[in-house]
Amino acid sequence: MILRTGDDRLVSIAPMVERTIAAYVADPEIQKEAGGIFIGSYRGPHIEINTCTTPMPRDVRRPTLFDRSDPGHQATALNAWKMSGGTETYVGEWHTHPVDDPIPSNLDLQTWRAVMKIFADPLIFLIAGRRSIWCCQGKCGELATLTVSGVG
Ligand SMILES: [Zn+2]
Repeated sequence: MILRTGDDRLVSIAPMVERTIAAYVADPEIQKEAGGIFIGSYRGPHIEINTCTTPMPRDVRRPTLFDRSDPGHQATALNAWKMSGGTETYVGEWHTHPVDDPIPSNLDLQTWRAVMKIFADPLIFLIAGRRSIWCCQGKCGELATLTVSGVG
């Protein structure tokens, strides 16, 4: 899937990542929120999302909350960074909402603002629902909604 920002920057999401997330918006998984981080690379103004992590044992999964508290997500990103010689890195995160068409909650916005204070590069924040996804690019505290540019 290719997403596009208002100023024509592209965000590609690898098919494997799409399939992985799709499994968590199907029954019975969608009954508890799920999530993880995106690992990928920056290509000039564009972002490639190549892999993602999925819920780990120490994460909190509730019907309307996903808390990514397992240190394994960060460890996975660090490992990818080392293995790739510094090209593959944390580029954002995803989680699910148990609805057809998700929109960010106030808690989501707060969480993303906190993350954006740590990372200078643009980050991708994605919420998956049963029918659609909500996705934005965040940088310097600003969120810009992304539109789907190719269906895949
Ligand atoms: Zn949320």
